[in-house]
Amino acid sequence: MPADQELNQLAATIRSCTDCQLSRARKLAVPGEGPADAAVMFIGEGPGFHENEQGRPFVGAAGRFLEELLASVGLTREQVFICNVVKCRPPGNRDPLPEEIEACAKYLEAQIRILHPRIIVTLGRFSMARFFPGARISAIHGKARQIGGRTVMAMYHPAAALHQPSLRATVEADFAALVPLLQAAAPEAEAGADATQLNLF
Ligand code: URA
Repeated sequence: MPADQELNQLAATIRSCTDCQLSRARKLAVPGEGPADAAVMFIGEGPGFHENEQGRPFVGAAGRFLEELLASVGLTREQVFICNVVKCRPPGNRDPLPEEIEACAKYLEAQIRILHPRIIVTLGRFSMARFFPGARISAIHGKARQIGGRTVMAMYHPAAALHQPSLRATVEADFAALVPLLQAAAPEAEAGADATQLNLF
């Protein structure tokens, strides 16, 4: 089955999922979105108020900041895949519980398998923990690691940078560090091509 069809089918399964208690309080599940051939996948924490209303990831204040950060490296949100560790909103935006993360892990794993993105960027602690168990974000943010044949980089969550202005420059610098990774992930791209073109291979 073509990857975009497989992703759509998975999204339909997620929208009707009742495998954990988050499904009971949600308005809309938020499977994630982006092209099936995206080179870069961003993984946040879980839907917030606006995401729960619209069924789309990162559409509130953190999403606007994420779009600014993407633009700073020549990318638009339409060119990358954006999703979350848990696909339904934790009530009151509380942290997702271990059993909720566990119940939802199969969906994130399936998305990674279908997309096989060359670069994964984790946004915040919960998605970081999936790839870097026990790590501290202050120690590893912005550093690219090779994990299972792909590049993974942990970053602070954009919402953290909105609440803590001192983190803003850190997040911006971590995004800038993506540019050479995008170039390295696209050896066939023409020399001098910008990140926008690189994402289209
Ligand atoms: N924060 C997240 O982690 N994910 C979203 O989709 C929105 C805000």
